[in-house]
Amino acid sequence: MEYYDPRDFDLAGRIAKLKTRHGVIETPYLFPVVDPVKQVPSLNTLLDIGFNAFITNAYLLYRRNRGMVKNIHSYFSWNNPIMTDSGGYQILVYGSIEVDNVTIVKYEKMIDVDIGVILDIPTGSQMSRNEAWKAVKETYRRAWEALPVIMDSSQLWVYPIQGAPYRDLVMYSAIQSKRMPYHIYAFGSPTVYLEKYAYDELLELAIMAKLNLPPEKPFHVFGVGHPMIIPFLVAIGADLFDSASYILYARDERLMFEGGTKKLGELSYLPCNCPVCTRYTPQELREMSKTERIEAIAKHNLYILIREIKNVKEAIKEGRLWEHLVYRSRMHPSLRRAFTVLNKYRHLLEKYNPNTKTPTHAVLLLDADSASNPRLVATRRRLYRVIEREFSGKRILLVPAVNKPFTQQSIYVDARKKYPNYKVLFYNPYLGLFSPKHINTYPFFQHEIGTYAYNECVVEEAAWFLIRIKPNEVLVISAGEKSFRVFAERLVKILKSKLPGKTPIRIIRA
Ligand SMILES: [Zn+2]
Repeated sequence: MEYYDPRDFDLAGRIAKLKTRHGVIETPYLFPVVDPVKQVPSLNTLLDIGFNAFITNAYLLYRRNRGMVKNIHSYFSWNNPIMTDSGGYQILVYGSIEVDNVTIVKYEKMIDVDIGVILDIPTGSQMSRNEAWKAVKETYRRAWEALPVIMDSSQLWVYPIQGAPYRDLVMYSAIQSKRMPYHIYAFGSPTVYLEKYAYDELLELAIMAKLNLPPEKPFHVFGVGHPMIIPFLVAIGADLFDSASYILYARDERLMFEGGTKKLGELSYLPCNCPVCTRYTPQELREMSKTERIEAIAKHNLYILIREIKNVKEAIKEGRLWEHLVYRSRMHPSLRRAFTVLNKYRHLLEKYNPNTKTPTHAVLLLDADSASNPRLVATRRRLYRVIEREFSGKRILLVPAVNKPFTQQSIYVDARKKYPNYKVLFYNPYLGLFSPKHINTYPFFQHEIGTYAYNECVVEEAAWFLIRIKPNEVLVISAGEKSFRVFAERLVKILKSKLPGKTPIRIIRA
């Protein structure tokens, strides 16, 4: 895609360059919402913190200036990219606005925005199913209506996906949107989920949209501006966000952190290294004038947001986004629930990842969640296909892989002597089954284990493999930590129920 060029992938997340007429935006990116009249902090401050593009409201600009703004870049003295929303949010709040779709789209085109949105009908969360259905249909009609205006422009145009909270309507909206040549798809109006920490519901809905959209195009999520949820949305393939939360929270004296939000009044310390928190104590912030305090907190919120975006990008680069999510999911119950949703869809998300290169970083294995890492799941499945023929119909000896190098473990050396007529496979609660031939390949060598943990999926995959190869006999040497013994016992139990009754299956305790 000439305007969108993803280079690095992990899970369904990616790092890409979004090319606009006033410069490149590296995604994942969050557009701070800028007030066209009284912006705090200043645009230069946004740029200093690391935001080179913002979003503002074309409808408010139109109304306050009676349609008189000629060029939005001159109006804001800003030579970087600008995105405009169209007034859809005002419809959500006030019920209707006084301009129509074509007028506002023509206006966005005329004032030279880089990314424009048609005037959609947001569904919000209070709508009945029937009202939401009407909003989806009307947004679709308006997208057609706007096409003649936007076709000959070199700007990027956004199609808003509506229908939330109804999953089938979100799916339908996404499927319909593909018929038109829009550049960016945006999932609409999830602010209500953010306010009540319903990140799991938000993820379910966003996944419905993402799975039904062309994967090569950028995916925007409207109204998301909290560092807690950003990594999870990036993992399901969200590239762009926009939010006024940095200033709305600041007016309410709320400071964002990766693990939650804190009221200034509750804080004894500022556990953050941003320039604001390095310079002031909570008491000093409380003693400031209200205007100064709001600006200081807004800056802190922007620093926290950009920091989490950088964390996510670095995790994608290193192929460690899953590990990042496991870590984040421990910070708040709502994130734990979000992680469960992601885990449910991990196989679907993996198909968005065209990454075939072997990661250079060792995979970190901390607990049962680590075993569900889609990268590991994919590796285990690939290996089972590769070794299937070699092990088919053979007498199989399963040896625990506890300490690297696995072929130098005494348990392995002894077993080879004692059972020379068996084909050996190693087993490990994180890595599943693998042959001695593969111990120097990724990730059977490139991993670091903290403590062992048991994950039922790994055993089920291993059992499924052994059932397929119809072994002549299965002998399992049980040793090592508890998770190895549980693995061995559970595996044997499944095999006994699924393999033909005459197949000898035994556990030997070392
Ligand atoms: Zn700070």
